[in-house]
This record gives sequence, structure tokens and C-alpha cells, in this order.
Amino acid sequence: HAKEMGRNRFELHSQSLSTSVQQRITIEHDLREALQERQLIAYYQPQWELQTKEITALEALVRWQHPEHGLIAPDQFIEVAEKIGLIHLIDYLVLEDSLKQTLRWHAQGFKLKQVAVNISPYTFHRQDFLSTVVELLTRHQVSGDSLEIEITEHALLEDSDYSREVLANLKKLGVTIAIDDFGTGFSSMSYLRDLQIDTLKIDKSFIDQYQDNAATGIILRNIIQLGRSLGLNVVAEGIETERQEQDLTRFGCQTGQGYLCAKPLPVEQINAQFVPAKASNVLTLKPNCKQR
Ligand code: C2E
Ligand code: MG
Ligand code: MG
Ligand code: MG
Repeated sequence: HAKEMGRNRFELHSQSLSTSVQQRITIEHDLREALQERQLIAYYQPQWELQTKEITALEALVRWQHPEHGLIAPDQFIEVAEKIGLIHLIDYLVLEDSLKQTLRWHAQGFKLKQVAVNISPYTFHRQDFLSTVVELLTRHQVSGDSLEIEITEHALLEDSDYSREVLANLKKLGVTIAIDDFGTGFSSMSYLRDLQIDTLKIDKSFIDQYQDNAATGIILRNIIQLGRSLGLNVVAEGIETERQEQDLTRFGCQTGQGYLCAKPLPVEQINAQFVPAKASNVLTLKPNCKQR
């Protein structure tokens, strides 16, 4: 009986394994094509100042407009892209798109502090990373202080000399650095002392759970205090309710991001909802965020 169960389990396992390998191969093939045919596009999600409800920044989040499967979310392909060595092409594509878009928004009178771009640890550790950022800023004539780079603690784990140098060079350009998914990594927090960090983005899981779990609430409030005491901007990710918005404001968090204001949206929808059309000035804003 045990043997039979074992065999069934093995078959189940090998079947799901072969499916996922199959999927990987398809994704890998399609992804190369997608990069060439510009099927990867950036969506943008607003960040707002909790005190004033003004939108101060946007985060670029990649989407794959697949010709057969429709819109694919990043968690379906980022990991594969990292494994097959294509992630930097995605990151650079989104970075360039964000810089071009920043210029357009500035020209349209959208007063943004920054656009934030996610950079994979693999991209961060590439030799051409810094020079690519410099090259793209120069080519598009965007000043560095319009850009925030989001990295995870993961990216800072190995080779802290390298990280320190890259971050210092980005800072010289005016680029700010955010630690994404803060509170979920395994690294020691000494990098907050040793490296030049500007922003902590508290992982959504804390915002999801603090109301049901007292310990999560204590950690959340203390992360905010820690960030504030170090003079960092603290962003809460994944705010979905007004209750969360009020609590986080009370805890001292400055900035919010989440569905309460808006989901990540394509440029046309950002423009329709948040950018004042010069002629009409008509905006359809949710009460939880407004144009700066
Ligand atoms: P992230 O950088 O932590 O981005 C935040 C994620 O939370 C986004 O998921 C966003 O849509 C989602 N989110 C924001 N507010 C809410 C909310 O109120 N409720 C819910 N349920 N979700 C919310 P998304 O767009 O699926 O991206 C997932 C992850 O994929 C990102 O997490 C980031 O790690 C990665 N990613 C996205 N774009 C890029 C990229 O261009 N390069 C790299 N390397 N990674 C990227
Ligand atoms: Mg991010
Ligand atoms: Mg995050
Ligand atoms: Mg995340």
C-alpha cells in the first residue's frame, strides 16, 4: 500500500514537474520574443503623501502583454527571466520607459518628485548597471533626482563594498534608494547604518496583518519609528482600506501606496485620472489621493 502511495505521489510530482518545465520552456521562448517585439510594458502605481493626500511619486511595474495569454503579472515571469539571464533587459527597458515618461509628465505639468523603478539583484550586480543608469539619464536628459531605484535587502547581501560604491555613485547623481519589501529579508540591519538609503518600503504583509496580529502591529509601528528616526521616508505598501490609511498616518508613516488610491495603471489611465489636462483641468480622482 505504502509503495503504491509512493508511486502515485511520484507520478503526481513528476507530472507537475514536467508541466512546470514545459511552462518554463514556453515562457523562456516567448520572453525573448516579447523583448524584441515590445510586449513588455510599464504600468504605474501612485504613491501619496498620507498627510496631504497628494500624489508625489509613481512606481513602475512591468506587465507582459502576451499575444495569446493576455496580460501577465510579473510574478509569472520575473523569476524565469532571472534564471535565464534576461532580467536586466527587462529592468533597463522599464527604466528607460520610466525616464521618457517622467519627461512627458513634467511637460504636462504633473508635479512628481520621482518615478520609482524596481531593479533585480541580478541587474544590480552587473558590471554595466551603473553605466547604464548614467547613460539613460544622460541620453534622455532627466536629472537623477527624478529617479528612485527600488532594491530588496537581497541585493545587498553579498559584496557590501560593491553595494556601497554603487549606491554612493547613484547618490552623487541625485538618485534615491528604496529598500523594497522591508521586513521580510534575512539580512542584518547594519546596512541601514553603512549604506546610503533614502526610503523604506514596508512589505504589504505587515499592512495586511497588523489588525489581526498584535506582534505584527508592534513590529510595524517600530519599523516606522526606526525609519523616521534614521531620517528615512517610510512607505506603506498595499493600503487597501481607509482604516489602514488612518492607522498608518497615526503610526507616523509618511507615504502610502495601494489599491485605496489606485492599482498599477497604464499611462493613458494615469493621465486620464491623475494628470490635469491643460485645457479642461478635469480630474476624476478618488478622495484618498489627489494631484500634487
Ligand atoms: P513590488 O515591487 O513589491 O511591488 C508591489 C506589488 O504589490 C505590485 O505587484 C503591486 O501591484 C502590488 N500592490 C500594490 N498595492 C496593492 C494593494 O493594495 N493590494 C494588492 N493586493 N496588491 C497591491 P505586481 O505589479 O504584481 O509586481 C510584483 C513584483 O514583481 C514587484 O513587487 C516586484 O518585486 C516585481 N517587479 C515588477 N516590475 C518589475 C521590474 O520592472 N523589474 C523587476 N526586477 N521586478 C519587477
Ligand atoms: Mg517595488
Ligand atoms: Mg514591495
Ligand atoms: Mg514585492
